[in-house]
Amino acid sequence: MSNTDTLLDRNANFAARFSDGDMPVFPKLNTMIIACIDARVDPAHVLGLDLGDAVVIRNTGGRVTPAVIEEISALSVLINQINGGKDTPLEVVLLQHTQCGAERYADPNLRAAIQSQAGIDVTPLAIHNHDQSLKDDLETLRIATAVPNYLVASAMLYDVKTGSVTEIVAPAPLG
Ligand SMILES: [Zn+2]
Repeated sequence: MSNTDTLLDRNANFAARFSDGDMPVFPKLNTMIIACIDARVDPAHVLGLDLGDAVVIRNTGGRVTPAVIEEISALSVLINQINGGKDTPLEVVLLQHTQCGAERYADPNLRAAIQSQAGIDVTPLAIHNHDQSLKDDLETLRIATAVPNYLVASAMLYDVKTGSVTEIVAPAPLG
């Protein structure tokens, strides 16, 4: 049995007891989470999300990249439209974690290898210090003109050894 069969079996169990077909598209917790792709840090588990609770964007490191800024900007417009044209102060949560692969990008030799073998510059993703990179990413959000300044943003760090999340920056409006 392949892993795909495992997933299809799990979905059959899920669908058998599914009753959320009329769930609204607007996230129940009014929240958008930016998290790492690491399999150990799935926000649904770590933050106890139920289906429909939050929008989740994941990339290596859970970093605020140009692609993430585009997603947040476009989603903000979409969500405002769903919400009757009102500015909707979504809460954006940046969630980084210990033992992150993006910390390895701090190694210049690895960065050079990725550049030469894959043609990709991962320098902007490198995490040298979680507190600093979370604060840098909040600032990147703040100065991005396409990101509405009424959004509320915060930053958290998940410890893969203990399962605990620590708040690094409390929620505050970007503007
Ligand atoms: Zn990671």
